[in-house]
This record gives sequence, structure tokens and C-alpha cells, in this order.
Amino acid sequence: MLLGEGPSSGGAEELEGVEVDGYDTSYYDSTDNEDSFDEEDDGCEIVRKHSVHHRFDSSAAVPTFCVGMRFGNKFEFKQAVKDYGIQERKCIKFVKDEGYRVRAKCTWPNCPWVIILSTNSRHESWQVASFNSEHKCPPRRDNRLVTANRIANRFEKIIKANPTWNMAMMKETVLEEMLVDVSISKCKRAKRIVLDRTMDATKGEYSKVFEYQAELLRSNPGSTVVVKLDPDAEKPTFLRFYMCFAAIKRGFMAGCRKVIGLDGCFFKGATNGELLCALGRDANNQMYLIAWAVVEKENIDSWRWFCELLFRDIDVGDGEDWVFISDQQKGILNAVEYWAPRAEHRNCARHIYANWKKTFRDKDR
Ligand SMILES: [Zn+2]
Repeated sequence: MLLGEGPSSGGAEELEGVEVDGYDTSYYDSTDNEDSFDEEDDGCEIVRKHSVHHRFDSSAAVPTFCVGMRFGNKFEFKQAVKDYGIQERKCIKFVKDEGYRVRAKCTWPNCPWVIILSTNSRHESWQVASFNSEHKCPPRRDNRLVTANRIANRFEKIIKANPTWNMAMMKETVLEEMLVDVSISKCKRAKRIVLDRTMDATKGEYSKVFEYQAELLRSNPGSTVVVKLDPDAEKPTFLRFYMCFAAIKRGFMAGCRKVIGLDGCFFKGATNGELLCALGRDANNQMYLIAWAVVEKENIDSWRWFCELLFRDIDVGDGEDWVFISDQQKGILNAVEYWAPRAEHRNCARHIYANWKKTFRDKDR
């Protein structure tokens, strides 16, 4: 992750997305009967009389339209039509989008639903010039208005929380909740959109890591906060972060046994890396977190780095009278042996049990 990179504007353009997404084939002729609107004809006078108080209501659950309804701009209108199509399960297509006029119609053969929005020099805003609200089509499950962007917006929270969400399950959920049968590849695109957005959101955070470090040290004197940059990268690039608060350090040394559990786990979500942590037990036999670190991955080098800082913080010395408990991770075994050769090192019973269970899964007792 590069430091000093500003937040990027990852704004996906919904509008363009929809247009390109299968809506670029225009087989409708401009001489179509329903397209007889003319800015010079009397229609405009009628529109003006009806339109005085009809401003589009963007707070309505399902957008409604009528002749003379006013919109601030084309974008607002198109968004409203798309919302309407998705909610009512109608497949609406923008068959014409010119400088002064937009026409949308239902794509079902012979379905009469059509709406025309227009503006001209006499109007300051955009108005519905013609509208037929009648549908003769069934509810659609192939609604192409449901784009990858729409799916991404709708399921953003779920995708963020479950980056490994199975695509077939996602497709099922879209069908269940949005009533549209989308392709697996559209689900994949939606997931990519969410993950890219999340990545973009984290970019600026890394550039603030030194300010974060300075603030932690200012407000918690005596703490250990270490930021390590990647020595192999050309630009300053974040590699590791170590944290041990002074108060926690003091508390541990004053009241806890010299027994420490060490373990690491992966980060789920958009960022890579692993969390390493050191846990003790307090006088009530409850978990007592001593120190933690963010590293690129769990290996011999990262555990040695972590243990060196940790052992110095809590004064482990050569390990005499200390006990460390871990899974059988080679990095931990190596680091403890290296920095505290006289310490007792035990395997965690839970991990032994889990491995044992995995190995003998198929065997009878
Ligand atoms: Zn229709």
C-alpha cells in the first residue's frame, strides 16, 4: 500500500453504465408514431398549463409520472425512470436521448408504456411532454436496468462483510430480493465494484499512519508504537505496525503471570496482511491483551520482529521463568527460541485438538 496517495475518486458512473449495458442498440425509428412530439406544436401550451405545480417527488418510494411533471435535469429524470423500472419490474429502455428530448419506452413487444421528456428555449426546466402509463407486459425477470452497479449498491454491506461470498449464492440472493435473474458474470462485476471502492477508501488512510503514531505517543506517554516501511520499495510503502500501550504494559507486569499466548490471523476484507497478538491472563483468569501488530504475513521474519519489540516491552530477558503458548507456527517457535532461549514453550491444547480432529476426521473412535 503506497503512502502519500490521496483518496481517489472512484465514482462509478451509474448513468453511463446503464446506457452501455445493452442499451446502445437503437432499432426504434425516429419517425415512430409515438414520437410525434414537436416543440413547436400546441402540446407545449398544454404542458405549460398543467405543469405549474408538478415537480417530480424524489422522496416517493416508487416514482410516479404525469404529463407536465417537471425535472431539474435529464439525469434526474433518467434516474427516476430507472428506479421505476426496477421497482415495478418493467424493462425500460431509453430509445432516444437528444439535446432537448429524451424518450423511454417499455421493451416488451407492443407494450404501449412510453414517456417523453423535453425542454426548449421557452422552458427553463425539463418537463414530461407525453406519457402513456399503461403496460401490457408481464413482470420481467430479465430486467437489464439491474446493472452491476445497482447490485453493488444494494449488497455493498454484505459483500464487504463476506468477500468470499459464493457467486451462485449471490445470484440467488439477487433473484430473491430484486426479483431479477442476473448472470454470474454480472455478480462478479458487482463484487469487483465493491472491493475496488473499499480499496479506494483505504488508500488515504495509510498516508496518515505517522500522524496516528504521533498522536498515540502524545496521548499515551511511554507506549511503544512502531511503523516499519518496506525496505525494498522505491516509494515509502507501509509494511508493519506494532502497538503496546504503556498502561497495558504496566498492568501486565504488575499483576499477571509470566504466561503469554502468541497467535496470528488473517485480515478479511479489502486489505491484505495479518494480525499478530500477544495475550496474557489477568488475576481473574480473563484474557489480557498485551501487544498487537499488523504485518504483511506470518513468517519467521515478522514473528522475530514482533517478539523482539514485545520481549523488550515486558522485559522477558533470556526467557527464564517465562512460558509461551502457541500453535506450531514455525515463525513463533523460531522467534521465542532466538530471543528467549530459556523460556518454556508449550503447544496450545486447542490447536492440538483441532489438528488431531482434522487428521482423524474419518476414523471411528
Ligand atoms: Zn410494459
